[in-house]
Amino acid sequence: MPWGFRSSTPMWPRMSSCSWEMTYNTNAQVPDSAGTATAYLCGVKANEGTVGVSAATERTRCNTTQGNEVTSILRWAKDAGKSVGIVTTTRVNHATPSAAYAHSADRDWYSDNEMPPEALSQGCKDIAYQLMHNIRDIDVIMGGGRKYMYPKNRTDVEYEMDEKARGTRLDGLNLIDIWKSFKPKNKHSHFVWNRTELLKLDLYTVDYLLGLFEPGDMQYELNRNNVTDPSLSEMVEVAIQVLRKNPKGFFLLVEGGRIDHGHHEGKAKQALHEAVEMDRAIGQADNMTSLEDTLTVVTADHSHVFTFGGYTPRGNSIFGLAPMLSDTDKKPFTAILYGNGPGYKVVGGERENVSMVDYAHNNYQAQSAVPLRHETHGGEDVAVFAKGPMAHLLHGVHEQNYIPHVMAYAACIGANLNHCTQASSAGSPAPGPLLLPLALLPLRSLF
Ligand SMILES: [Zn+2]
Repeated sequence: MPWGFRSSTPMWPRMSSCSWEMTYNTNAQVPDSAGTATAYLCGVKANEGTVGVSAATERTRCNTTQGNEVTSILRWAKDAGKSVGIVTTTRVNHATPSAAYAHSADRDWYSDNEMPPEALSQGCKDIAYQLMHNIRDIDVIMGGGRKYMYPKNRTDVEYEMDEKARGTRLDGLNLIDIWKSFKPKNKHSHFVWNRTELLKLDLYTVDYLLGLFEPGDMQYELNRNNVTDPSLSEMVEVAIQVLRKNPKGFFLLVEGGRIDHGHHEGKAKQALHEAVEMDRAIGQADNMTSLEDTLTVVTADHSHVFTFGGYTPRGNSIFGLAPMLSDTDKKPFTAILYGNGPGYKVVGGERENVSMVDYAHNNYQAQSAVPLRHETHGGEDVAVFAKGPMAHLLHGVHEQNYIPHVMAYAACIGANLNHCTQASSAGSPAPGPLLLPLALLPLRSLF
């Protein structure tokens, strides 16, 4: 082994590394976010649409869940005494975060209102319920999804007139109250629903933080209300300040989840501004952690059928036109296009002339080859960037479910701990970071 990290060197390698991961689900070439989140959080590939369960669970079939649950690196970190957190711009019970704490045959079971009667009668629980009950001491939870926490028809605190923002729960539970009731009385637990309240908190005294800033997903960064909604990078800053107080270290999952939504809508400008905010969040995390004791992994769960071409010159706006007309239909075209999606436009039997529309608008839908209401994911491999202890293990091409095993190996958490004790029992110096708090920050959804 090139760095001799098992037993012969006093220091584990700390470096930056880049690799590729294969994202397919067990039953799908082109994956969805539920199966992929299960892969890179729980370490096993799964069927599309399922979270926190092995491939023995079939989507929508509640009775295939029991016995097939798999646990996540968030749970492994918690069991090892680390603090743990989830930060997302989607609903906190959306596919990606839910694989960290839930076991569900269907990613769409946000609350019991979205579940079929058969699944309810067979005893399956919705994902919001599982968020509050499965791992009761998750230290930080931030994102959207308020409505799934409240009884059916309860008015939302922010959008009082909006019926779609009202509570959804058929069981009448108030999951915010339940979240509070599970926290020790001698600890400081705070629920906040807007940015002003969040930024007023004295984070040195906060032990548990639940921030739910929208009834559903959070707003796109370009549309964000700076009074009511924190940015992704602000949430990351707050989360790390709370989590890093634990001398044993922390695990934080950060999702720039609306990058994906921008693409599904064919709105490249929204998607790319979400990606820029994700980049700021990575920079924020970088400023607040050290290469010496923090493994940071940045990746996407899957790709999209999103392209950038047309021989544009340097300095051209990425949202601009290619410098030539099509040599076939004699019309201009944008540098950004989609393979499929809602931007397919035919006017008078021909492809729309984009110079007649505002293609630089925030909500412009780039042209696609095939009409679809929702643009699809892509099936190709995606990049994985890593730095910190054991980052070199993310090098070359890997299956997506390899990622949490690398993180667990580096942190000496989870089931496979032999290498952690072998080093010291062999009489060689124990690897340095083994004795130090190790923080893990997977940050995802670049694409
Ligand atoms: Zn998607």
